[in-house]
Amino acid sequence: MGKLLVVRGDITREETDAIANAANCSLLGGGGVDGAIHRAAGPRLLEECRTLGGCRTGEAKITKGYDLRAKYVIHTPGPVWHGGGYGEDELLRSCYLNCLKLASENGCRSVAFPSISTGVYRFPLDRAAKIAVTAIRDYLAEHEEIEEVRMVCFDARTQQAYEAAARS
Ligand code: ADP
Repeated sequence: MGKLLVVRGDITREETDAIANAANCSLLGGGGVDGAIHRAAGPRLLEECRTLGGCRTGEAKITKGYDLRAKYVIHTPGPVWHGGGYGEDELLRSCYLNCLKLASENGCRSVAFPSISTGVYRFPLDRAAKIAVTAIRDYLAEHEEIEEVRMVCFDARTQQAYEAAARS
């Protein structure tokens, strides 16, 4: 079974075959990790994103990585947290599973994820970490083509939450 690693870092510097982007439904860029990925990939990424017609929350769309080290960017709009009664947990799980499915379909063996929805979308961090780790492990158990998934945490608090989730 492929391994799940929790690391601290900047996802734009990852050398995995694909990196996931915590996008918004327009796919036209934004703040946070989305802005960082667009800056690092260069303007051709936005050009390709303009052709995609947006993306629904919990679904995913793939583009090339352009100036990134990663060959692909897999864009997924995470759910905005509205208290937990609006399908947020299932939508967040779908983000991870749909990104991994696109990675498999495009021949990727390694994928890096940021902590989807726990920034401006305000999803509670510990809860998001458990959902992410469970979804990734469930997928890895059934798809041997993915050898490594890296959870790339931008700050210490995020790293601690994902390490705790990965231990349990
Ligand atoms: P969302 O809108 O899905 O909440 P954000 O971009 O606001 O997305 O935040 C998601 C997570 O990405 C946060 O933990 C934030 O600290 C983190 N983040 C921001 N920049 C980067 C980066 N360059 N690499 C990895 N993670 C990042």
